[in-house]
Amino acid sequence: MMRTIPHIAFYLALLTAVGTADAASFVKILEIQKVTENVYALVGPKEQRDVGNLANNATFGVVVTNEGVVLMDPGGSWKGAQAIHEAIKSITDKPVKFVVDTGGQDHRWLGNAYWAAQGATIIASEDAVADHKERGSLQLTALKNFLGKQMEGTEPVYADVKFEDGYTFELGGIEFQIKHPGQAHTPGDSFVWVPSKKAVFTGDIVYVERILGVGSQSNAKSWIAAFEAMAALLPEHVVPGHGHATTLEKAKADTYAYLINLREKIAKHIDAGGDMIGSVEIDQSDFSYLDQFESLAKRNAQQVYSEMEWE
Ligand SMILES: [Zn+2]
Repeated sequence: MMRTIPHIAFYLALLTAVGTADAASFVKILEIQKVTENVYALVGPKEQRDVGNLANNATFGVVVTNEGVVLMDPGGSWKGAQAIHEAIKSITDKPVKFVVDTGGQDHRWLGNAYWAAQGATIIASEDAVADHKERGSLQLTALKNFLGKQMEGTEPVYADVKFEDGYTFELGGIEFQIKHPGQAHTPGDSFVWVPSKKAVFTGDIVYVERILGVGSQSNAKSWIAAFEAMAALLPEHVVPGHGHATTLEKAKADTYAYLINLREKIAKHIDAGGDMIGSVEIDQSDFSYLDQFESLAKRNAQQVYSEMEWE
Protein backbone atom coordinates (compact mmCIF):
# COMPACT_ATOMS: atom_id res chain seq x y z
CA MET A 1 0.00 0.00 0.00
CA MET A 2 2.92 2.32 0.71
CA ARG A 3 3.74 2.29 -2.99
CA THR A 4 0.50 4.09 -3.86
CA ILE A 5 1.29 7.13 -1.75
CA PRO A 6 3.73 8.78 -4.20
CA HIS A 7 1.15 8.30 -6.94
CA ILE A 8 -1.52 10.04 -4.89
CA ALA A 9 0.91 12.83 -4.04
CA PHE A 10 1.77 13.23 -7.72
CA TYR A 11 -1.90 13.33 -8.67
CA LEU A 12 -2.62 16.00 -6.08
CA ALA A 13 0.36 18.02 -7.28
CA LEU A 14 -0.95 17.73 -10.81
CA LEU A 15 -4.41 18.89 -9.77
CA THR A 16 -2.91 21.81 -7.89
CA ALA A 17 -0.88 22.79 -10.94
CA VAL A 18 -4.03 22.71 -13.07
CA GLY A 19 -5.88 24.65 -10.41
CA THR A 20 -3.33 27.45 -10.33
CA ALA A 21 -3.57 28.06 -14.08
CA ASP A 22 -5.06 31.36 -15.22
CA ALA A 23 -8.70 32.10 -14.54
CA ALA A 24 -9.71 31.54 -18.17
CA SER A 25 -9.02 27.83 -17.85
CA PHE A 26 -11.54 27.67 -15.00
CA VAL A 27 -14.32 28.44 -17.47
CA LYS A 28 -13.99 24.84 -18.63
CA ILE A 29 -15.53 23.67 -15.36
CA LEU A 30 -18.72 25.57 -16.21
CA GLU A 31 -20.78 24.69 -19.26
CA ILE A 32 -22.51 27.75 -20.69
CA GLN A 33 -26.06 26.82 -21.67
CA LYS A 34 -28.21 29.38 -23.45
CA VAL A 35 -31.72 29.16 -22.01
CA THR A 36 -33.54 31.89 -23.94
CA GLU A 37 -32.66 35.37 -25.21
CA ASN A 38 -30.16 36.92 -22.73
CA VAL A 39 -30.68 34.12 -20.21
CA TYR A 40 -27.99 31.54 -19.47
CA ALA A 41 -27.31 28.67 -17.14
CA LEU A 42 -23.70 28.09 -16.05
CA VAL A 43 -23.73 24.38 -15.37
CA GLY A 44 -21.06 23.11 -12.99
CA PRO A 45 -20.19 19.48 -12.33
CA LYS A 46 -22.57 17.31 -10.32
CA GLU A 47 -19.83 15.72 -8.20
CA GLN A 48 -18.24 16.67 -4.90
CA ARG A 49 -16.26 19.89 -4.40
CA ASP A 50 -12.59 19.68 -5.37
CA VAL A 51 -9.54 21.73 -6.38
CA GLY A 52 -10.60 21.44 -10.01
CA ASN A 53 -14.18 22.69 -9.67
CA LEU A 54 -13.43 25.31 -6.98
CA ALA A 55 -16.66 24.37 -5.15
CA ASN A 56 -18.74 25.38 -8.19
CA ASN A 57 -20.42 21.97 -8.19
CA ALA A 58 -23.82 23.52 -8.91
CA THR A 59 -25.73 25.50 -11.54
CA PHE A 60 -25.70 29.31 -11.65
CA GLY A 61 -28.01 31.68 -13.53
CA VAL A 62 -27.24 34.73 -15.66
CA VAL A 63 -29.58 37.37 -17.07
CA VAL A 64 -28.04 40.05 -19.29
CA THR A 65 -29.86 43.40 -19.43
CA ASN A 66 -29.02 46.74 -21.11
CA GLU A 67 -27.75 48.05 -17.79
CA GLY A 68 -25.79 45.07 -16.58
CA VAL A 69 -25.95 41.48 -15.45
CA VAL A 70 -27.94 39.79 -12.69
CA LEU A 71 -26.25 36.65 -11.39
CA MET A 72 -28.13 33.95 -9.51
CA ASP A 73 -25.64 32.59 -6.96
CA PRO A 74 -22.05 33.72 -6.54
CA GLY A 75 -20.06 30.46 -6.63
CA GLY A 76 -18.58 28.39 -3.81
CA SER A 77 -15.30 30.25 -3.31
CA TRP A 78 -13.44 33.42 -4.37
CA LYS A 79 -11.81 31.59 -7.27
CA GLY A 80 -15.09 29.85 -8.08
CA ALA A 81 -16.69 33.31 -8.36
CA GLN A 82 -13.80 34.41 -10.57
CA ALA A 83 -14.44 31.41 -12.84
CA ILE A 84 -18.11 32.42 -13.07
CA HIS A 85 -17.00 35.94 -13.97
CA GLU A 86 -14.77 34.60 -16.76
CA ALA A 87 -17.73 32.64 -18.13
CA ILE A 88 -19.92 35.77 -18.00
CA LYS A 89 -17.24 37.81 -19.79
CA SER A 90 -17.41 35.31 -22.65
CA ILE A 91 -21.14 36.15 -22.96
CA THR A 92 -21.16 39.93 -22.42
CA ASP A 93 -18.90 42.83 -21.46
CA LYS A 94 -21.62 44.27 -19.18
CA PRO A 95 -20.77 44.41 -15.46
CA VAL A 96 -22.47 42.23 -12.86
CA LYS A 97 -24.73 44.58 -10.89
CA PHE A 98 -26.71 42.21 -8.68
CA VAL A 99 -26.00 38.81 -7.18
CA VAL A 100 -28.82 36.82 -5.57
CA ASP A 101 -27.86 34.22 -2.95
CA THR A 102 -30.70 31.71 -3.35
CA GLY A 103 -29.85 29.59 -0.33
CA GLY A 104 -27.50 28.58 2.43
CA GLN A 105 -25.21 26.03 0.79
CA ASP A 106 -21.61 27.13 0.21
CA HIS A 107 -22.06 27.54 -3.57
CA ARG A 108 -24.99 29.88 -2.86
CA TRP A 109 -22.93 32.42 -0.93
CA LEU A 110 -19.22 31.78 -0.29
CA GLY A 111 -18.29 33.55 -3.54
CA ASN A 112 -19.88 36.78 -2.19
CA ALA A 113 -16.53 38.36 -1.21
CA TYR A 114 -15.42 38.37 -4.85
CA TRP A 115 -18.63 40.04 -6.08
CA ALA A 116 -18.61 42.58 -3.26
CA ALA A 117 -15.09 43.52 -4.44
CA GLN A 118 -16.50 44.04 -7.97
CA GLY A 119 -19.10 46.45 -6.55
CA ALA A 120 -22.14 44.20 -7.06
CA THR A 121 -25.13 44.40 -4.72
CA ILE A 122 -25.80 41.08 -3.01
CA ILE A 123 -29.37 40.08 -2.13
CA ALA A 124 -30.58 37.22 0.09
CA SER A 125 -33.48 36.29 2.35
CA GLU A 126 -33.07 37.00 6.08
CA ASP A 127 -33.36 33.27 6.72
CA ALA A 128 -30.52 32.58 4.28
CA VAL A 129 -28.28 35.15 5.93
CA ALA A 130 -29.04 33.68 9.37
CA ASP A 131 -28.05 30.29 7.94
CA HIS A 132 -24.82 31.75 6.47
CA LYS A 133 -23.94 33.13 9.90
CA GLU A 134 -24.78 29.88 11.64
CA ARG A 135 -23.04 27.42 9.32
CA GLY A 136 -20.38 29.61 7.73
CA SER A 137 -17.41 28.50 9.82
CA LEU A 138 -18.32 24.82 9.40
CA GLN A 139 -18.62 25.29 5.65
CA LEU A 140 -15.27 27.08 5.48
CA THR A 141 -13.58 24.27 7.42
CA ALA A 142 -15.06 21.65 5.08
CA LEU A 143 -14.07 23.71 2.06
CA LYS A 144 -10.46 23.92 3.26
CA ASN A 145 -10.32 20.14 3.13
CA PHE A 146 -11.71 20.04 -0.39
CA LEU A 147 -9.91 23.03 -1.93
CA GLY A 148 -6.69 23.51 0.04
CA LYS A 149 -4.80 26.51 -1.34
CA GLN A 150 -7.53 27.14 -3.89
CA MET A 151 -9.56 28.55 -0.98
CA GLU A 152 -7.49 31.72 -1.15
CA GLY A 153 -9.57 34.89 -0.79
CA THR A 154 -12.70 33.05 0.33
CA GLU A 155 -14.26 34.70 3.35
CA PRO A 156 -17.77 35.23 4.63
CA VAL A 157 -19.48 38.32 3.24
CA TYR A 158 -23.18 38.72 3.97
CA ALA A 159 -25.88 40.14 1.69
CA ASP A 160 -26.28 43.92 1.36
CA VAL A 161 -30.03 43.64 0.86
CA LYS A 162 -32.10 41.28 3.01
CA PHE A 163 -35.80 40.52 2.73
CA GLU A 164 -38.32 38.49 4.69
CA ASP A 165 -40.36 36.55 2.13
CA GLY A 166 -40.18 38.47 -1.12
CA TYR A 167 -38.22 41.16 -2.92
CA THR A 168 -38.68 42.67 -6.39
CA PHE A 169 -36.20 44.79 -8.29
CA GLU A 170 -35.58 45.93 -11.85
CA LEU A 171 -32.50 46.27 -14.01
CA GLY A 172 -32.50 47.47 -17.61
CA GLY A 173 -36.31 47.25 -17.71
CA ILE A 174 -36.30 43.58 -16.67
CA GLU A 175 -38.18 42.69 -13.49
CA PHE A 176 -36.79 40.14 -11.02
CA GLN A 177 -39.12 38.74 -8.38
CA ILE A 178 -37.39 36.87 -5.57
CA LYS A 179 -39.59 34.65 -3.40
CA HIS A 180 -38.60 32.82 -0.24
CA PRO A 181 -41.42 30.27 0.08
CA GLY A 182 -40.03 28.57 3.21
CA GLN A 183 -37.43 26.00 4.14
CA ALA A 184 -36.49 23.54 1.38
CA HIS A 185 -32.95 22.20 0.93
CA THR A 186 -31.84 24.92 3.37
CA PRO A 187 -33.81 27.25 5.67
CA GLY A 188 -33.45 30.35 3.48
CA ASP A 189 -34.00 28.96 -0.03
CA SER A 190 -35.44 31.34 -2.62
CA PHE A 191 -36.36 31.20 -6.27
CA VAL A 192 -36.06 34.09 -8.73
CA TRP A 193 -38.84 34.61 -11.27
CA VAL A 194 -38.22 36.71 -14.36
CA PRO A 195 -41.73 37.17 -15.82
CA SER A 196 -40.67 38.68 -19.16
CA LYS A 197 -38.52 35.61 -19.86
CA LYS A 198 -40.93 33.10 -18.30
CA ALA A 199 -37.80 31.80 -16.57
CA VAL A 200 -37.32 30.76 -12.98
CA PHE A 201 -34.02 30.25 -11.18
CA THR A 202 -34.73 27.79 -8.43
CA GLY A 203 -31.49 27.39 -6.51
CA ASP A 204 -31.52 24.19 -4.49
CA ILE A 205 -35.32 23.87 -4.62
CA VAL A 206 -34.82 21.93 -7.87
CA TYR A 207 -32.22 19.28 -8.70
CA VAL A 208 -32.30 17.55 -12.07
CA GLU A 209 -30.17 14.70 -13.42
CA ARG A 210 -28.73 13.99 -9.97
CA ILE A 211 -30.46 12.95 -6.76
CA LEU A 212 -31.23 15.79 -4.35
CA GLY A 213 -29.81 15.71 -0.84
CA VAL A 214 -31.97 15.99 2.27
CA GLY A 215 -29.81 17.08 5.20
CA SER A 216 -30.36 18.21 8.77
CA GLN A 217 -30.68 21.76 7.40
CA SER A 218 -33.51 20.66 5.06
CA ASN A 219 -37.23 20.10 5.48
CA ALA A 220 -38.73 17.72 2.92
CA LYS A 221 -42.32 18.69 3.77
CA SER A 222 -41.92 22.43 3.22
CA TRP A 223 -39.56 21.68 0.30
CA ILE A 224 -42.58 20.15 -1.47
CA ALA A 225 -44.60 23.31 -0.73
CA ALA A 226 -41.71 25.48 -1.99
CA PHE A 227 -41.64 23.49 -5.23
CA GLU A 228 -45.41 23.94 -5.62
CA ALA A 229 -45.08 27.73 -5.15
CA MET A 230 -42.46 27.78 -7.92
CA ALA A 231 -44.44 25.46 -10.20
CA ALA A 232 -47.57 27.66 -9.83
CA LEU A 233 -45.77 30.26 -11.98
CA LEU A 234 -45.89 27.81 -14.90
CA PRO A 235 -42.34 28.67 -16.01
CA GLU A 236 -41.30 27.82 -19.55
CA HIS A 237 -37.66 27.63 -18.45
CA VAL A 238 -36.44 26.16 -15.19
CA VAL A 239 -32.82 26.85 -14.28
CA PRO A 240 -32.24 24.39 -11.44
CA GLY A 241 -29.72 24.45 -8.62
CA HIS A 242 -28.04 21.36 -9.99
CA GLY A 243 -28.14 20.06 -13.56
CA HIS A 244 -29.02 21.67 -16.88
CA ALA A 245 -31.77 24.22 -17.49
CA THR A 246 -34.89 22.28 -18.31
CA THR A 247 -38.68 22.12 -18.33
CA LEU A 248 -41.08 22.16 -15.41
CA GLU A 249 -42.00 18.59 -16.32
CA LYS A 250 -38.42 17.36 -15.89
CA ALA A 251 -38.06 19.33 -12.63
CA LYS A 252 -41.22 17.62 -11.35
CA ALA A 253 -39.94 14.19 -12.30
CA ASP A 254 -36.48 14.54 -10.73
CA THR A 255 -37.28 16.62 -7.62
CA TYR A 256 -40.98 16.83 -6.80
CA ALA A 257 -41.87 13.19 -7.50
CA TYR A 258 -38.75 12.11 -5.62
CA LEU A 259 -39.71 14.07 -2.50
CA ILE A 260 -43.34 12.85 -2.64
CA ASN A 261 -42.21 9.24 -2.96
CA LEU A 262 -39.76 9.62 -0.10
CA ARG A 263 -42.36 11.00 2.29
CA GLU A 264 -45.06 8.51 1.23
CA LYS A 265 -42.78 5.52 1.66
CA ILE A 266 -41.42 6.73 4.99
CA ALA A 267 -44.97 7.38 6.25
CA LYS A 268 -45.93 3.79 5.40
CA HIS A 269 -42.76 2.50 7.02
CA ILE A 270 -43.54 4.41 10.24
CA ASP A 271 -47.20 3.25 10.19
CA ALA A 272 -45.95 -0.32 9.94
CA GLY A 273 -43.84 0.22 13.06
CA GLY A 274 -40.54 0.45 11.17
CA ASP A 275 -37.47 2.01 12.74
CA MET A 276 -34.79 4.35 11.45
CA ILE A 277 -32.32 1.59 10.58
CA GLY A 278 -34.96 -0.15 8.48
CA SER A 279 -35.97 3.11 6.78
CA VAL A 280 -33.07 2.83 4.32
CA GLU A 281 -34.80 -0.14 2.71
CA ILE A 282 -37.85 1.80 1.44
CA ASP A 283 -38.36 1.49 -2.31
CA GLN A 284 -36.79 4.40 -4.19
CA SER A 285 -35.90 2.34 -7.26
CA ASP A 286 -37.97 4.52 -9.63
CA PHE A 287 -35.27 7.14 -9.13
CA SER A 288 -32.18 4.99 -9.49
CA TYR A 289 -31.52 6.69 -12.86
CA LEU A 290 -30.43 9.84 -11.00
CA ASP A 291 -26.68 10.48 -10.59
CA GLN A 292 -25.36 9.78 -7.08
CA PHE A 293 -28.42 7.68 -6.25
CA GLU A 294 -26.28 5.01 -4.58
CA SER A 295 -24.50 7.42 -2.27
CA LEU A 296 -27.47 9.55 -1.18
CA ALA A 297 -30.78 7.64 -1.39
CA LYS A 298 -30.39 5.80 1.91
CA ARG A 299 -29.13 8.85 3.75
CA ASN A 300 -32.15 10.80 2.47
CA ALA A 301 -34.48 8.07 3.77
CA GLN A 302 -32.96 8.26 7.26
CA GLN A 303 -33.13 12.03 7.31
CA VAL A 304 -36.80 12.08 6.27
CA TYR A 305 -37.52 9.36 8.84
CA SER A 306 -36.12 11.58 11.59
CA GLU A 307 -38.17 14.48 10.24
CA MET A 308 -41.44 12.51 10.11
CA GLU A 309 -41.02 10.57 13.32
CA TRP A 310 -42.63 13.43 15.28
CA GLU A 311 -45.13 14.75 12.75
ZN1 LIG B 1 -26.71 22.87 -3.93
